[in-house]
Formats: sequence, C-alpha cells, structure tokens
Amino acid sequence: MTDRYKSLLKNNEAPLQQARIRILTFGLLLLILLAVFVLGILAIHPHPVIVTRVVVFIGALIYAAYLLIYKEKWKSSAHIFLISLCIFIWTNIVLYKHGVNVVMIQLSLIVISSSFYILGKNWGLIYAVCNVSPVIIYLLFTRLQDGKVYLTDSQINNNTFMLTMIANFILIIVMHNEFFKSFYLSQAKERELNEQLQSALNEANEATRMRSDFLSSMSHELRTPLHAVIGMTNLLSVENPRKDQEESLAVLRFSTENLLALINDTLDFSKMNENKISLNKAAFNLNLLLHNIYSSFRAKVQQKGLNMMLNIDLDNDLPYVIGDQTRLIQILNNLVSNAIKFTDANGLIQINIKTISRTKEQISLSFAVIDNGIGIPESKQDIIFEPFLQANNNITKRYGGTGLGLAIVKRLIALHGSELKLKSEVNKGSNFSFDLTYELTAEEYQPTDLLTTAKNVVDISNLHVLIAEDNMINVMVLKKILDQWSCTYAVAGNGMEALEMAKTGVFDVILMDIHMPIMDGFEASKQIRALANVEIANIKIIALTASSEVDIQQSFSYTYLDDYLTKPFSPDSLKKKLDSLVQKSIRRI
Ligand code: ADP
Repeated sequence: MTDRYKSLLKNNEAPLQQARIRILTFGLLLLILLAVFVLGILAIHPHPVIVTRVVVFIGALIYAAYLLIYKEKWKSSAHIFLISLCIFIWTNIVLYKHGVNVVMIQLSLIVISSSFYILGKNWGLIYAVCNVSPVIIYLLFTRLQDGKVYLTDSQINNNTFMLTMIANFILIIVMHNEFFKSFYLSQAKERELNEQLQSALNEANEATRMRSDFLSSMSHELRTPLHAVIGMTNLLSVENPRKDQEESLAVLRFSTENLLALINDTLDFSKMNENKISLNKAAFNLNLLLHNIYSSFRAKVQQKGLNMMLNIDLDNDLPYVIGDQTRLIQILNNLVSNAIKFTDANGLIQINIKTISRTKEQISLSFAVIDNGIGIPESKQDIIFEPFLQANNNITKRYGGTGLGLAIVKRLIALHGSELKLKSEVNKGSNFSFDLTYELTAEEYQPTDLLTTAKNVVDISNLHVLIAEDNMINVMVLKKILDQWSCTYAVAGNGMEALEMAKTGVFDVILMDIHMPIMDGFEASKQIRALANVEIANIKIIALTASSEVDIQQSFSYTYLDDYLTKPFSPDSLKKKLDSLVQKSIRRI
C-alpha cells in the first residue's frame, strides 16, 4: 500500500497537488478512526439508527480511501469524502435529531475547510453552501417558531464531542501545514526555474551575440575581395572591351551584384531579428528622393522593355520631412525591383505616392508599388513575407533572388509602426502598399537642381588624394579609378604612414581604409584631427570600409571621419563624394 501511495504522490508531483492528496488522506484516516470510536461507544449504548448511519459513513469513507490509493482518483475520492460528510450532517439535522448540535457544527467546519483546500474555490463554495444552508434553515425555522435559537442535544456524549473537536483542530493544523509546505516548495521551485531561465537567456543572448559578430566579420571578409572583383569589373567595362568581353563582364557584374545583395540582406535581416536596427531621424527632401529612386531604375526598366510611371500627389509647398531616408529607399528599392523582376516586357510599373492627411507637425502618406506582372497566387500571399520563401521554387531559377527582400521590407515598415499590404492576382499583377507618417520641419521645401546634376561633369583632376590602404588589390582598383578622373595620388600602407604623410599638408582628401596593420584607420583619423595645424587637422577623410551600414551607424569611432563608403562601392559613388568636395571648395573661392 505504501508503494501505491508513493506512486500516487509521484504521479502528482506539483507541490500543491501533493499537499491536497496528503490533506485528503489525513482527513479520511482521522474520520474513519473517529467513526470507529463512535461505533465503539455505541456498542455500550446501542442505537439502531445511529449505528446504521455510522456504519454507512465508515463504508463510504473506506470506498473513498480505496479510490484514492488503488485507483489514484483523488478528486473522486475527495467528493465522496465530502458528500458522505454532508449527508451525515443533513440527516442529523433534518431526519434524526431535528437540530444543530456542536458535533455537527464541528463536522460542517471540517467539510467547508477541506473542500476549499482539497478541491479549490468553486467546489469549496458549493460544499460551503451545502453545509451552511441546513444549519441556517434550521435555525431560522426554530426562530420563527418561538423567537429562540437552540443548539440541540446538550446531552451529547462528551467523548464524541471532545474527539470531534480534536479531530477538527488536528485537521486544520495539518491542512495549513501542508499548504504552507507546498507554498514554500513552489516558491523554491519557482526560484530554481527562474535561475534556469535566466541562465538559458544569458546563453541565448551570448549565442546571438556570437552569431552577430560572426556575421559581421564574415560580411567584412566577403566584402573585401568582392570589392576588388566589382572594382575590376567596373574598370574593365570602361576600358573599351570587345563585344564578347562586354557580355562576360555583364555576367560578372550581375553575379557580383547579386552576391553583394545577398550579403547585405543576410546581415540586415539578422540584425533586424536581434532588434539591433532602429530608425534614424534626419530631414530629407521626399520629392527628390522619389525622383532619384525612379531615375535609378530607368535603365533597368528600359532594358526589359517595360514602362514605369511615378505618380506623386504631394503638396507643392511640402517642407522637408523627418525620417529615415535610407530605410525608405531600401523599402521602395526592394518593391520596385521585385515589380520589375516579375513583370514581362511591355508591362507597366507604377509608383504611387499621395498625401492621406497633413497637419502642421506631420504628414501621413500612402505608398504603392503596382505592377501588371505575373502576380502571386492567393495561397502564397502569406508565405512570401517569410524569410527565404518564394511563391514558386522555379522563380529562383528564372529570376534569381534570395527570398529575403519582402521579409526585410515587412520588418522595416513595422519598425515605422505601419503594415505592408498586398493585393495580387495571378497574371494580372500585384499591388504592394503601405502608409507612413513623417514629422515635418519648419524648413521650406526647396525645388532642387540636384535632380538634374549630370554624372561625372565635375572636374576633379586637381584633387591630390592620399590612399591609405594595405590591400594591394584594393590600391590597384583605387588607382585605376582615380586615373580615370586624372586625379593625382599617393599611397600609405598603414595608418601610421597615413598620419605621417597627412602632416605634409599636400593632400585634399584621404581615402582611409579602416582595418590596417600597425595603426588602424580610426586611430590615424583621431591623431590627424588632433594635429596642431588646423587646416591639416580638418582635412576631409572618407572612410572606405567593409563594415555594414548598421555597424557604422552604431560605431562611435566614425565621429573622426567626415564620410564613408562601404566596400564594394561603385566608382560613381566615390565620384559623387569627391565632386561635392570640389564643389564646396569652388563655392568657398
Ligand atoms: P526574392 O525576390 O529575392 O525572391 P522577396 O522576398 O523580395 O525575395 O520576394 C519573395 C517572393 O515573392 C518572390 O520570390 C516572388 O515569388 C514573390 N513576389 C514578390 N514581389 C512580387 C511581384 N511584384 N510580383 C510577383 N511575385 C512577387
């Protein structure tokens, strides 16, 4: 029997359940002993009705004990225990003695407290009502008769009374003892679980940090050689290649650009998942940005024989908006390049932007990128927002892509507190839309001529450039790029050399690699900024880094640098940076 009881406790291992089973066991034992004792007294003064009631009561309690130990049905056992007690009390009050005596009150208290402790609040209330009601009804009944309340049977057997009271006391003590034991045990278990949870959390955070570091350094390592490949491809393309070489170069450029996009997307996505990406706030010209995006896709659209329309419905007096323009560009670039990718020749791509509402402080805009391309089946319209999932596996083969673009766009829009919506029908096209709200600045909108700034028209041949770079291939690429624009240059193989050469004061700009031996680009820039000669100390320094945008934005060390280009960069983007340098110095003159 002890084995069975142990297994019962083992199968109900929660401390609270164990406490309930122990209280029930104790209650059953106590009442069986009490009833047997009463039966003993009755042997001296036999009374057929009482004997029958006590025998039936003992039978019910033994059955309850059987259910508990042999069938492990502790809840049924508890109900039988409590119901038989209730019946005992009811029959005493209603049928037999017609009154409430002290023993019955004691038994009622046992039922009420045990039902709450063993079966919980709801059953506790039910049993309480079942027990209290006959007592109240009876007392009311007698009171209605002659205005007095009686506790009947003052002649009750003294031993029975004493034993019931002692049993009640013991049971109440046992109940509280068990409950508090289970309470402390639960607390200890909770503490232990919390500690385990905390250490699991720490481990997970550490693993995430390591993964993030790994991705950052991998991306860095991959970008550096990719920079050389892209740089060389660009150079070869402008060196009048033969027709067949042009095609090979186009394939080379396409593959490297795809590889770069994959590296960037993977890194971006992993940072997003770690909630490491937050939005920057800076004023920008929305109109200009939209036109720039539109222009950047024009060549691709023409190449594919598509039509593209930019429909901007904004107020003419729109001031600068405040927000993260890099992320907006990323969102629109992804959606527009998908639209181009999944629309066949002669198709139409529309980029629609309109004002939803505008107050003095902010503006809400709706954006939509609509195409009449292949469309997305309804069954796939959810999964395409999941990372690495595409509507159709053949798509990757035909159109390329990683399946990360929409997952990133969705998260970026969510970061803006909005939602990306999709309407699409197969062979009819797709409509990706979202709303964004931007703060407005007091600055007036200035129609800008930047839109029409032609590429490469600024003459930068007067620039004397210091290339601080340890990787010889990168140096070669940079030299060839600068040769194109007839700039003059000198090369420093590490930060220390760069610092020494900068001191000569003959350079207009330093293209500073960050990871260099002896002294890195950050330290070199810091020391240059600290030079006594103010003009040299303020020399323009452009970092050339293989780190990701996110890492750069989060790095304090970039404060010593004026600007940066992430490797691999296109000659055009370097040219733009150098152009602005020349334009500024011309303006100064
Ligand atoms: P990728 O384009 O790199 O495959 P995305 O996350 O950008 O990854 O897109 C996931 C999938 O959603 C695509 O592979 C394609 O099946 C579907 N999709 C996205 N945009 C469009 C669109 N404009 N028209 C049709 N299908 C689209």
